Amino acid sequence: REMGSNRTIVLYPSPGMGHLVSMVELGKFTLNHHPGLAITVLVVNPPYNTAASTAAYMNRISATTPSITFHHLPSPPLDPDSYPSLEALHFELLRLSNPHVHQALHSISLTAGISAFIIDFFCTCALSVATNLGIPTYYFFTSGANGLALFLYLPTLHQSTNKSYKDLDELLHLPDLLPIPPRDMPVPLLERTSPEYAFFLDVATQLAKSSGILVNTFESLEHNILKSISHGKYVPDGPTPPVFSLGPLIASDNGKGGGAAGGTGGGVHECLKWLDMQPSRSVVFLCFGSVGRFPAEQLKEIAIGLERSEQKFLWVVRSPPSEDKTSRFQTPPAPDLDLLLPHGFLDRTKGRGFVVSSWAPQVDVLNHGSVGGFVTHCGWNSVLEAVCAGVPMVGWPLYAEQKLNRLFLVEEMKLALPMDESTEGGFVKAAEIEKRVRGLMDSEEGKVIRETAQAKKEEAKQAMADGGSSTVALAKLVESWRKLE
Ligand code: UDP
Repeated sequence: REMGSNRTIVLYPSPGMGHLVSMVELGKFTLNHHPGLAITVLVVNPPYNTAASTAAYMNRISATTPSITFHHLPSPPLDPDSYPSLEALHFELLRLSNPHVHQALHSISLTAGISAFIIDFFCTCALSVATNLGIPTYYFFTSGANGLALFLYLPTLHQSTNKSYKDLDELLHLPDLLPIPPRDMPVPLLERTSPEYAFFLDVATQLAKSSGILVNTFESLEHNILKSISHGKYVPDGPTPPVFSLGPLIASDNGKGGGAAGGTGGGVHECLKWLDMQPSRSVVFLCFGSVGRFPAEQLKEIAIGLERSEQKFLWVVRSPPSEDKTSRFQTPPAPDLDLLLPHGFLDRTKGRGFVVSSWAPQVDVLNHGSVGGFVTHCGWNSVLEAVCAGVPMVGWPLYAEQKLNRLFLVEEMKLALPMDESTEGGFVKAAEIEKRVRGLMDSEEGKVIRETAQAKKEEAKQAMADGGSSTVALAKLVESWRKLE
C-alpha cells in the first residue's frame, strides 16, 4: 500500500547550489518510485551568488514536477560581508531562519501529515524544532560515505588530541578508513578554536541522534565503508542511526534554459557545439565547482600547462577572487580573458582549446562523447556527475571536504589522479598541470582509471534502476515512514 496523498515529506536543504540540487533530486527520485507522496521544499534565499542559478533550477522543477512545492521562507536581515567564511554565513542564515521553519512545519501539518523532515547538515538547528513537533527527522548527507564516517567520528577524534588538525603531523587513523593526512581534513575543521569547528562538532553529535541518515552515494561505490558505518564503528558510545544510500542523485541537466548564473538563456551552449566537432574522448574538461576561483597567476600557469600538454581542452575560467571584501560572496564579473590569459594564448590554442566564461553546462559536457577526462575540484556533486558519465578525473581540491574526496578517489576508488598542490603554498606549477593532464588523457595510468570509471558508470546506473541498491534502500525508507503513520 502506498502512503495516502495527504502525507508529505519536507526537505530542508541549505542554499548552496550543490546542496539544494541534490536534495531536490532526492525528492524527484522518491516521487518516481512512490508517486502517492507529496514533497515540500523549504527554501532559504541566500543573500549572495548562487541565488540566480538555483532559482532557474527550481523554476524548471516547478514546471515539470507539480508534486514538488517550493515554500520560500522570509529572508532574515543579515549582512553577508560581516562573516569570515561562507560556512559561518550559512550557519547564521539558517539559525535566523529557524522561527520561520517552525512556522512552516506547523502550517504544513495543519493540512497534511508530515511523514519525515529531511535536513542538510547546515540546517542542524532545525532538528530540535522538528523533534519538539514530534516529526521524525533525517539528515541528507551531501558528500559520500567516507566523508560521513569521518563526520560521525569527529567527537571521538576531538577527544584524542587537543591540537588543531592544521598543526598535527601524524596521520589520523580511523577504523577501516585510509589513514588521513591531517591537512586533508575539511577546511572549516582545520582550526580547533574557530566557530566553524565548534559548529561541525555539534553537527556530528546531532547526526548520530537523528532518525536516519540518507547519503548521496551507492552501495558498490563505497561498499566497505558503508558496512563499517552500519556496524557502528564511528559512533563508539551509542547507536548509529540507519544509513540509506540513495544515490547517485544528480541533476539530469544543469545547462539548459540558463541553468545557472552566466547560462545561455536557452538553446545549445556554444561549448557543446564545439565539442560536437572534436574526436571521441579527446577533450579534457576543467571546471571547479559553483564558487571555485583562482588567483590571476594561477590561471596563467594553468594556461601554460594546458598549452604544453598538447591536449584538447575545454576550460571554464572565472574571474580571480577580488581584493574587495565586500564582494566575496557575490557573482564574480565575467573574466577579462585577454588580460588574464598569457599573451596570444587564445590564438595559439584555437581549434585545440575552448575557453568558457564563468559557467558551463557541466552535466551535458561530461556526458558528451568527445570528453575523455575531467580536472575537478572534487566537489561531491561533480564527482558523482563524472562517475555517472564514466569520465576519469584529476583531483585538484580547493575548499570544504574536497581534499578528503580526492584522497578516496585516488587511493581507494582509483577514479582519479592527484594534482599535487602541496608544495609552493598551494600554487600549482605549469609542469605539474602538463604532467597530470597528459597522464589523464594519454598514458597507461590514465587508461586504467578510464576503464574503472566506465565500469562504475554501469554500476551507478544499476543502483538507480528497479531492483538496484538505491531503489531498494528508498523502498525500505518509505516503508519505515508508513509504519509510523
Ligand atoms: N556546475 C556547472 N557549471 C559550472 C560549475 C558548476 O554546472 O561551470 C555545477 C556542477 O555540475 C555541480 C555543481 O555546479 O552540479 C557544483 O557542485 P559541487 O558539489 O561539485 O561543488 P560546489 O559548488 O558545491 O563546491
